[in-house]
Amino acid sequence: MTDEHICVCGHSEAAHRHFRSGTDCGSCGAQRCSRFKRDKRAESPKPAESLPEPENGRL
Ligand SMILES: [Zn+2]
Ligand SMILES: [Zn+2]
Repeated sequence: MTDEHICVCGHSEAAHRHFRSGTDCGSCGAQRCSRFKRDKRAESPKPAESLPEPENGRL
């Protein structure tokens, strides 16, 4: 289960985490995306009514 945030550039937050210095997008480059900016509109709202039940070690 992943909880990645999407940048306004359309790439995941992981794309902005690279070994080289800076927080620019690894796919777009510093010219298009100099830093990670969370795009809330791109995130699908989580249904609060369908929360998964916590596992109690039944498996
Ligand atoms: Zn970006
Ligand atoms: Zn990007």
